Amino acid sequence: MERWHTVIIGAGPGGLACAATLASQGISVLVLEKKGKVGPKVCAGGITGAGLFRNLPDDLIERSFPIQHIFTPLQQVILTSDLPMVSTVDRGKLGTHMLAIATAAGATIRINAQVSRIETDRVILRSGEAVGYRHLVGADGSVSTVRRYLGLPTTRVGVGVQYHIPASLPRMEWHLDAQRFGNGYAWIFPHRQRTSVGAYISHGGMRPHALQARCREWAASGGIDLGQARPEAALINYDYQGWRFGNIFLVGDAAGLASGLTGEGIFPAILSGKTVANTILNDHYADNGFARLLKNHQRHARLAAFTASNRTLCRLVMESLVLGLRTGLMDFNLLEMADQGL
Ligand SMILES: Cc1cc2nc3c(=O)[nH]c(=O)nc-3n(C[C@H](O)[C@H](O)[C@H](O)COP(=O)(O)OP(=O)(O)OC[C@H]3O[C@@H](n4cnc5c(N)ncnc54)[C@H](O)[C@@H]3O)c2cc1C
Repeated sequence: MERWHTVIIGAGPGGLACAATLASQGISVLVLEKKGKVGPKVCAGGITGAGLFRNLPDDLIERSFPIQHIFTPLQQVILTSDLPMVSTVDRGKLGTHMLAIATAAGATIRINAQVSRIETDRVILRSGEAVGYRHLVGADGSVSTVRRYLGLPTTRVGVGVQYHIPASLPRMEWHLDAQRFGNGYAWIFPHRQRTSVGAYISHGGMRPHALQARCREWAASGGIDLGQARPEAALINYDYQGWRFGNIFLVGDAAGLASGLTGEGIFPAILSGKTVANTILNDHYADNGFARLLKNHQRHARLAAFTASNRTLCRLVMESLVLGLRTGLMDFNLLEMADQGL
């Protein structure tokens, strides 16, 4: 049986960030990815936090938006900034970029390698092959096999749906419409040659097919023709229950680190991936940025639970939030998982 210092399950942004950090320090790392290609994932590709997109090469940024358009049934706010507040990335290209960095650092990535069972010192692939580990990292997304092995419940899960339209719309928009999307929202996230038009709703709000229909109806009401665009949907786990369990670690969506309020999960996946790697390297590692991310996560989860409890309350909170943004009493930064300083 092959033995590795660290086996990482899942080659999403969390798993690849973890692999690159470990391999750059000479650790033997194997990443097991069930899909045949690293990168593509149901995702609108919006990234916040200047620290994240400043560290990506320019050609990876699809479009950047220093202006944000936010709508509720009663208000519209236009937020402007000197620097981009949100950029978009193509998940396929981001995956290729992160894969190249992890591979150059010395990590081994195996595709078409689905882990079907976990034991105390080895994982068993669907093919029946066993791979031994000293440390195991679950970076396997919102329906995580590692999380299940650890016996952690997953009850707080959001749903995201999106359609790609083959045109780059001019504006980045957020629509907080409690009547249609409960405590979630609908978005328009333009990329270079296409636009992601989608909607997110937190725990128990709506089933994916109902959200798809709602999203289509909302788009039509705003004059956006989704035409023959195929709907895509996926779960977003924000049920955070910890990330460190002896020699087993959870990263990103597997750890429930996406925002319950906005569904943002790329940044938390990358930051938690790096934090787990540094903790494997140094048991006493502490990261202030990660501590702040956990705080933001809790705040978002509390607000998501509060607004999910009552539709009228939800409307009130959303209108107050947008009023706060309009009057400058609230910062857009409060809706992000990253701190501006990162
Ligand atoms: C519609 C929608 C829109 C979104 N938009 C945004 C957005 O604009 N911005 C943002 O920040 N976030 C967004 N998200 C959330 C974001 O996609 C995730 O939070 C992010 O991808 C989490 O990264 P990860 O590395 O933890 O997991 P993932 O990216 O899910 O990667 C997990 C990997 O593990 C692999 N895997 C799973 N099980 C196994 C197994 N048993 N064996 C081997 N491999 C396995 C999977 O194939 C996958 O490649 C959106 C989500 C949805 C559904």
